[in-house]
Amino acid sequence: MNVLNKTYDCIVIGSGHAGVEAALAAARMGCGTLMVNFSFDTIGQMSCNPAIGGVGKGQLVKEIDALGGEMGKAADKTGIQFRQLNASKGPAVRSSRCQSDRKQYLLYMQDVVRNQENLFFLEGKVFDILVRENLVYGIRLESGQEIYAKTVVLTPGTFLNGKIHIGKKTTSAGRIDESASNKLADSLKSLGFELLSFKTGTPPRIDGKTIDFTQMVRQDSDEVPVPFSFLTTEIPETQKLLSCYITATNLRTHKIIKDNIHLSPMYSGKIKSTGVRYCPSIEDKLVKFSDKERHQVFLEPEGLDEDLYYPNGISTGLPEDVQEKMVHSIKGLENARIVRYGYSIEHAVIPSTELKSSLESKRIEGLFCAGQINGTTGYEEAAAQGLVAGINAALKVKNQEPFILGRDESYTGVLIDDLVTKGTDEPYRMFTSRVEYRLIVREDNADKRMCEHGLRLGLISKERYDAIKEKYDVIEKQIERLRQMRIDPGEGINKILTENHSAPLRNTTRLSEILKRPGVSYEMIAPFDGELKDFSKQIIDQIEYEIKYQGFIARQQKDVERFKHLEYIKIPSGFDYSSISGLSIEIQHKLKHFAPQTLGQAHRISGVTPAAISILMIYLRKKLNNGKF
Ligand SMILES: Cc1cc2nc3c(=O)[nH]c(=O)nc-3n(C[C@H](O)[C@H](O)[C@H](O)COP(=O)(O)OP(=O)(O)OC[C@H]3O[C@@H](n4cnc5c(N)ncnc54)[C@H](O)[C@@H]3O)c2cc1C
Repeated sequence: MNVLNKTYDCIVIGSGHAGVEAALAAARMGCGTLMVNFSFDTIGQMSCNPAIGGVGKGQLVKEIDALGGEMGKAADKTGIQFRQLNASKGPAVRSSRCQSDRKQYLLYMQDVVRNQENLFFLEGKVFDILVRENLVYGIRLESGQEIYAKTVVLTPGTFLNGKIHIGKKTTSAGRIDESASNKLADSLKSLGFELLSFKTGTPPRIDGKTIDFTQMVRQDSDEVPVPFSFLTTEIPETQKLLSCYITATNLRTHKIIKDNIHLSPMYSGKIKSTGVRYCPSIEDKLVKFSDKERHQVFLEPEGLDEDLYYPNGISTGLPEDVQEKMVHSIKGLENARIVRYGYSIEHAVIPSTELKSSLESKRIEGLFCAGQINGTTGYEEAAAQGLVAGINAALKVKNQEPFILGRDESYTGVLIDDLVTKGTDEPYRMFTSRVEYRLIVREDNADKRMCEHGLRLGLISKERYDAIKEKYDVIEKQIERLRQMRIDPGEGINKILTENHSAPLRNTTRLSEILKRPGVSYEMIAPFDGELKDFSKQIIDQIEYEIKYQGFIARQQKDVERFKHLEYIKIPSGFDYSSISGLSIEIQHKLKHFAPQTLGQAHRISGVTPAAISILMIYLRKKLNNGKF
């Protein structure tokens, strides 16, 4: 069909991880949506490592899934290695990660997009965002053709003013062999957006046939892979899984890099932008950790029928000949053939404080931004923002209140709140440590946390919602049962307890109290209960967490309540802080600059003191709400 001469509810620019989730969400919420991308074939492309999840990121994927998004399902279907990270640590930091088959992942996403009702696709390059009186009304393509829409979601990733560097060579590109989006960047500038420059990079890719894996440590997939999606009951045994392999750099590698560091774009002065602190290039690692004699390198498979490996840990912008020497100096890679060289990439981003919590621009009504353009790095961060931006574009079309996730209910809420209230001066990556209530917002309970939203927004079915409610009813009942059930001291239980360095029972004790002891798991005491044996491991784990960490969870819940009222106190847009005499000039400037939408957001801006919040609260209460909130 001709997709050009139509007016859409929503146009999504870009089909990376943010674009796909945004377009699917808007279309699934009933909006006529057009997705525009350079090519259909790059929908769902993973620019770097074909891995989904990781510490702090697995939580985002679970939330995306629980809100009806696609990333988790795609990862399950195309995963070739699954691992639970931090499995031996507490539930607050446990995270899922999988290595996916790059090609299969992209084909999966293309199939979903192709079959999505209300979603249309156009191959093209967007040059301009069309705006009249600060209201978006469409896009202009490279061909000059204009297409109109009520909302636009912008997700151009690393393409905005993208520049690739390999040694001294610099090419304008958004990804290797793909052109950059310079005109779109100009369009944003002309609309008044300031553009900042960030940097990321990728390692060379290696032909698997030329790697000597016998010299490396093998790392297998978990024996029982845990799926990402709450809808995937299990990863079928027929799904082929592969191993990763671990090797390391050595002093010879380091000498090669140090001898040539002046040729690296980061150190020759070619790149001035800020790179990813937590995922540095190998050049960066040598400079920042100069006393380390080795850095681990993970050889990760890119797919089942592509014998190609991603050497995670040696991202680089060094010249090709240096990359050859560097790779060959690593154990097991002596004869490795580089199929594609690594590179550094610089690209433009907007200051994320330009956005509201809905990811709508404060400057231009109806324009939403998501993904790398907001200063983040990572597929999961992009997808989570894409989903929220797509939802909010749809809500805008329907004239409904924006969808804003709280910090106390989701990683996604923390991610967006950090971006819009504090901004970021380096690529932002999600971590568990950024989340203050991480015992409440865990991977395992994302379905519980998101299901009310998902149902209300029409992104999850009533059937799915009912199943989640039923699951948590069962969990509640079992927790209560374990709180009531008592065990008498006896040889059997005391033997298990002492074997696990826990004091023997002297009196009749509730099972839940035994479970709260450090080092005691439900599995150990299961023979004295037995009732949970028919439940899945995930459900048993959840029951265990809720009992074991009950005290900490209750404390976090109290903190949530203590601050919650601040989130409900709205600050009108364009609020004049200079009229409040009790606020210092510095705080007035900060508040004006960040333009928080709620008192909660104002509270999180660094330098805004609790005293300033109290003054602001009293003022807002008096002036705006006749003494009441
Ligand atoms: C070389 C490289 C290395 C990376 N390394 C890492 C890493 O180590 N760790 C990490 O977490 N992340 C890394 N990333 C970042 C990661 O790829 C991104 O964070 C993620 O892909 C962002 O998703 P996105 O949807 O915002 O954008 P992208 O996935 O980049 O997708 C952008 C989409 O927009 C389309 N587009 C752009 N301009 C236009 C236009 N004018 N008209 C139409 N379509 C347009 C493109 O075709 C593309 O489909 C790396 C990226 C690159 C390029």
